Amino acid sequence: MEQTLALIKPDAVQRRLVGAIISEIEKNDFQIVAIRTLKLSIDAAKQFYQAHRSKPFFDSLVGYMASGRIFVLLLEKDDAVEAWRKLHGHTDPTQAEIGTLRQRFGIDVQQNSVHAADSLATALDEINFFFGEGQ
Ligand code: UDP
Ligand code: MG
Repeated sequence: MEQTLALIKPDAVQRRLVGAIISEIEKNDFQIVAIRTLKLSIDAAKQFYQAHRSKPFFDSLVGYMASGRIFVLLLEKDDAVEAWRKLHGHTDPTQAEIGTLRQRFGIDVQQNSVHAADSLATALDEINFFFGEGQ
């Protein structure tokens, strides 16, 4: 069974949307095989988003991701990576397909409520980042 990594970001945790988002995850037939909650340090947020380090929004993204508690979920389903990206929707909530989590819950292009690993390789790295040895 394929695995992927999901984050419920600070904007959604702060607005008490964790239950609603987890409910959608389960309705869409994902198994939640691990879950943890934490507040990222600035350094950990920088490391997690290092692929974006040269983007103009990097510092602001890191500050936002370290601004409050997040939930980290290890999800399992056939085709989990693709299925979770489809459910979470476009980066910009105003462009996200109707019914996707970002369309329903996202505030703006940064505070978009959820994160999905973008490929199988990234999923493995991100799972290791949050659930690997030493965590
Ligand atoms: N982001 C941002 N400003 C932008 C684009 C993205 O703050 O103009 C944030 C947003 O939270 C997004 C994350 O950076 O989810 C990672 O960006 P990416 O382009 O990888 O979008 P995603 O894969 O999350 O849809
Ligand atoms: Mg991405």
